[in-house]
Amino acid sequence: MENFCTICGAKLSDDKVCRDLYNELSYYSLTHPNKEFFIHQYIVDAYLAQHASKDIKPIKIALALVGLCLFVNYNYTGRQIQNAHIELTKVKKNWPVFVRPESKIDITISDILLTKTYSSRDELIKKWATSVWGIWKDQHAAIMQLAGLYIENKKNKI
Ligand SMILES: [Zn+2]
Repeated sequence: MENFCTICGAKLSDDKVCRDLYNELSYYSLTHPNKEFFIHQYIVDAYLAQHASKDIKPIKIALALVGLCLFVNYNYTGRQIQNAHIELTKVKKNWPVFVRPESKIDITISDILLTKTYSSRDELIKKWATSVWGIWKDQHAAIMQLAGLYIENKKNKI
């Protein structure tokens, strides 16, 4: 029997939950030959931002959103986002609470798992992350401000 994730709409077979698909995709991204780019970070942030709920700590949601912001607006690699997360947690102690909008997007993790090549899969992961960023549009300004904190801090160090 076919099921769907009630949050993102991903197609789930039999006994699987969306988290299983995430784990499957993480296996792909963590063993990806391009370690320098570290596409895994896009998956972590996109999945979290797409499934954000009040059971997840505000810091985690905020960092995921900052990650998507840095990718979409500043073309950061996964590795650069990972570094930004580390730096940001050093300067920021109180995290705003971001509440996930109800809107859904066309791309889900089950579509990504159907792709066969590295290039097609990486391409779809980027589209997915960009679309997830899009559903948060009402909160973009606040997220940009948070990301700006990191960028400003980085500028001061140079
Ligand atoms: Zn889902």
